[in-house]
Amino acid sequence: MTTLIDTELLSDVQRFGVADVSACFSCGTCTAICPLTDNDGTFPRRIIRYAQVGMRDELLSSKELWTCYHCGLCSDSCPTQADPSEFMAAARRYAIASYEPTGLARILYTRPVIGSLIAVAVAAFFAVFMYAAHGPQGGSSLALFTFVPEGLIHWTGVAVMAVMSLSGLVGIVTMARRVARHEGVSLPTVFGGRTALARTASALWSALGVESLGQRRYRQDCKDDLPAEPLYRRRWLIHALTIWGFLGLLAATLLDWGLALTGVKETGTPIPLWYPSRLIGTLAGISLLYGVSIFMANRARKVNRASQLSTASDWLLLVLLWITGATGFFIEVALYLPDAPGWGYWVFLFHVAVAMELMLLLPFTKFAHAMYRPVALFFYALASDTSKQTG
Ligand code: SF4
Ligand code: SF4
Repeated sequence: MTTLIDTELLSDVQRFGVADVSACFSCGTCTAICPLTDNDGTFPRRIIRYAQVGMRDELLSSKELWTCYHCGLCSDSCPTQADPSEFMAAARRYAIASYEPTGLARILYTRPVIGSLIAVAVAAFFAVFMYAAHGPQGGSSLALFTFVPEGLIHWTGVAVMAVMSLSGLVGIVTMARRVARHEGVSLPTVFGGRTALARTASALWSALGVESLGQRRYRQDCKDDLPAEPLYRRRWLIHALTIWGFLGLLAATLLDWGLALTGVKETGTPIPLWYPSRLIGTLAGISLLYGVSIFMANRARKVNRASQLSTASDWLLLVLLWITGATGFFIEVALYLPDAPGWGYWVFLFHVAVAMELMLLLPFTKFAHAMYRPVALFFYALASDTSKQTG
């Protein structure tokens, strides 16, 4: 097999973060301390070596890139201050930009001013688009879906989800094909026969249920990350609350839509706080807002390795998530106030515009790690299973 050398690779990756791994002399100290090294005695040193010698394909085919938690143990122990954990974060940003073909992720990561202008323009577009079709305000309770027609929101949402899914799928397939080739995994390995299917199902459960939702290794491996931190500020917990909060809000929206579709309740009908879709949405909103607020505070205060360097794209994701959660609560308050407040309509318009932007930009911001990490964890679980069987 021919290995193509990209002499610009290291400098290109460095555009996505400040890590300067040119000082790395492959001593292996980071490998000795990294909690993920159990399956591969060369991680993370090998990934740094790929960048140093210009092995772009190998770098982008490494599942380990996505299993790293940015705990910082490797950087704390590096004798040359090469900062391997920040290099891994920069390499992940580089990979997100490489897997998607439009170039938007690269702009958002490496051109902060233009990226911020694009972000503002996308939100403004959705707001103006919705407002152009607006109906009347007024009445004794907020008639949000008269102000912005429900059908418009629904079909714009469908279009946004379609574009997001297509962009995401292109990125996932590109990444998965690279990793599969690198790992020697083929379609028959995954789907060929009952044993292969059972192994695939087990790897899927491990990637999605145990690791992505349950955060098992994050909890176990990063327990030394911030030993003095109380539970309510642990990285794995605020990460989990953010994921569960986001998924809960998505579930509440889909449930509300399903209830309207089946004729149980029309969208926009006043409902009490304990109504299932409202209750799920409220609890999920609290979870999301708490997680994102702590993430933002940590980044602003640079409390740990993972928050030492923040790109505009990292902030963009947090800001979009926070606005979506916070405006959702403002709407909820407005709905229960005795006299329908006029500001409730404008907050609703802003909420819908930002939520649409959040979903549309998912494959291009740091949010994309939510697509790539489960894929990497799937290959990780497959490799662990294979090594157990052959070991
Ligand atoms: S500890 Fe530092 S110098 Fe040693 S291999 Fe890791 S990054 Fe390179
Ligand atoms: S940041 Fe932590 S998980 Fe990532 S390579 Fe370094 S030691 Fe390993």
